[in-house]
Parts: sequence; C-alpha cells; structure tokens
Amino acid sequence: MKRYLLAPGPTQVSPEVLLSMAAPILHHRAPEFASLLERVKADLKWLFQTQNDVLILASTGTGGMEGSVSNFLSPGDKALVVNGGKFGERWLRICSAYGVKTEEIKVEWGFAVSPAQIQAALQRDPTIRGVFTQASETSTGVAHPIREIAEIVRQHEDCLMVVDAVSAMGVFDIQTDAWGLDVVVTGSQKALALPPGLAMVSISEKAWRLGATAKNPRFYFNFKKERESLSKNQTAYTAAVSLIVGLDQSLKMMKEEGLQNVFARCGKLAHATREAMKSIGLKLFPKECPSDSVTAVEAPDGFDGQQVYKDLRVKYGITAAGGQDQLKGKVFRIANMGYVDTFDVITAVAAVEMVLKGMGYPLKLGTGVGVAQEILLKK
Ligand SMILES: *Cc1c(COP(=O)(O)O)cnc(C)c1O
Repeated sequence: MKRYLLAPGPTQVSPEVLLSMAAPILHHRAPEFASLLERVKADLKWLFQTQNDVLILASTGTGGMEGSVSNFLSPGDKALVVNGGKFGERWLRICSAYGVKTEEIKVEWGFAVSPAQIQAALQRDPTIRGVFTQASETSTGVAHPIREIAEIVRQHEDCLMVVDAVSAMGVFDIQTDAWGLDVVVTGSQKALALPPGLAMVSISEKAWRLGATAKNPRFYFNFKKERESLSKNQTAYTAAVSLIVGLDQSLKMMKEEGLQNVFARCGKLAHATREAMKSIGLKLFPKECPSDSVTAVEAPDGFDGQQVYKDLRVKYGITAAGGQDQLKGKVFRIANMGYVDTFDVITAVAAVEMVLKGMGYPLKLGTGVGVAQEILLKK
C-alpha cells in the first residue's frame, strides 16, 4: 500500500532533504560542519525574521519549550499561561515541574485567547515574569493573536513574551523582531519538513538580560552555553549533524520559494481544505481564527472522528490525525504545512469523501474535490 503522511507532525520530507541527509556523517567539530552551521544560523534568522541568536538543540520541540522555562525563570516566579489546548497544557506542566507558579488563562478549545485577558492579568499582577502561549494550537487548529499579545507584553519591562511556534514558524507570518517576541520555539518535524529531532529557539536581548539571574536548574538545555558555542559555529554537545544537513537543504528550498510565497502557499492550501470540508456539510472545529497549519474538522453528528482517522489510514494509507483528549472521536485533523502542495489537498479531500461515504454519510463524491480545485486553480 502506498503511504501518505498528512499529519500535523511529523510531516512529509522532500526527496531533496532525504537525499541530503543520506550523505556520510560529518564530524561536528570539523571545519566543514562549522561552515554549514554558519549558513544555517543565518538562514534561521531569515526564517524567524530576527537578528537574535537562534539556538539549535538536539531534541524535539518540547525540549525547546522546557529550556524556555528553565533558562528564564526561577522557582517561585510567576508565569501567565494561555491554555487553549493540549500544547497550552504542556506549558503548565513544564512550569509546574520547575516550581514556577502559573496563572492560567483557560481558553475554551476551539477559541483564540483575547489580548484583553492578557492585559488585565498583567495589570492585576505586575510580578508576572513571562507570558507563555502557542502561535498555532495544533490540537484545536486555532491560531492565537501573537502580534497583539506581544504589543501588550512589551510594555512590561520584566515580562517575557514566550511563543511556542512549533507548528507556526514557516507556515504563517511570525515577525520575531518587529513584534518584539522574546523567546520563540520551533521544531524540525512540522513546517520545516524534516524528521523529528531538532528544536530551534530564538532569544531576544531582553530575554538574555532577564535570564541572567534565573535560578531554575538546568544542564543539557543551558541556553547560555549553547549561545557561546554557536558564536563559534558549534553546538555545546554533539550536534544532530544529519538533521542539520537536512535543515540546511530545507531552508535553502524555502529561501528559493520566498517566505511570503511559503505563507501564501500554506494559506491557500488551508483555505481550500476548509472550504472543501464545509462544502460536504462538515463543520470546522475552530470557532474563530483557524490556523493555516492544520485543519481540524468535526466529525458529523453520529459519526466517529476516530473512525475517519482510522479508515483513512487502513483503507487508503493516509496518516492524518484524530483528536486528542476531549476531542478524541469528535474531530480529525489534516496538516497544511511543510512539503505540501495542491495534490496533497486533493488527495486528503478525496479520501475524506470516500471514507465518509463508506461510513454511510450522505454526500455526492467529488463535491469537496471540486470546491478545492476551484480555489487551487486561482492564482
Ligand atoms: C508538535 C508541537 C510541539 C512539540 O512537540 P514534540 O512532540 O516535542 O515535537 C509543541 N507545540 C506545538 C504547538 C506542536 O504542534
């Protein structure tokens, strides 16, 4: 059976990237690797739209998230956490593991946080040292208003804006410097279309300043140490060399396409997916601000979303995603990020139609495909 990967991480890897990673292993202290890292360092600044150092860690995105708590806060410090899904919850759990007190802004799943809530919380409690949020909450398919939140946070001299952009960086516009984002985390296996195993973290001067006195314990994820190594085009420990070779290739391809074109492509694919799903009578799970990274679709009444996910895989070899936690059985999710194009959407929509038809859901085959084609035909 031919396999298709349309999950919101890991995502498909291009043949170019796969081949680049098949080359013999470079030694991480060899000059060839240093010059590669120098280029990747510059390209990451381009991707993050920043002049900041972007650290490269051998871990998944969660390692970057953990380091963003341990390097900038002390036990007993207070963090304001936006919890609108599975990944918002993860910020809470990391903070709690480090003895960081949290004030939670609980956002109903399917909704985006309102910047006014952040403003009110920061006014109520000026001791808050950081606002932790997702740019794209992958579990619900919602994008939070990062730019607006950052505008509020930057008024507070001793409070950092920390963004989990793991499923957003390289999908839609995240202007690290222009918006004043202090810590921005991404991972390799989403929009960068690499295998899992790298986290990348951009850190502002404000964050370095506040982090200088942070007392949380840390060893492997020691950002200061990584920064010093990076200044010499090295990583503190053995670099994930093959993944960084792949990252070099992936960033090269994104640069050839152009950042705005990457955003436009993902936006168009996501739009086509959403309209196709609506045209066959399905509802999108996000009630507002749908993210272009992943389309979360509600299973129709009386149908099991987990069955849709399972049938896609078992009958047609397509790995999408089901729902997590409270959404299990209620939704299925299709990624629109990374190495994806027109026919990934067509494939996904056609297969969803076939699966639903097989489950007894009334629809005219080709309806959603036609709608997607109309959108994708337009320039
Ligand atoms: C995938 C993802 C992560 C990182 O998860 P890992 O399993 O550690 O790679 C973090 N945040 C969001 C929003 C994600 O989509």
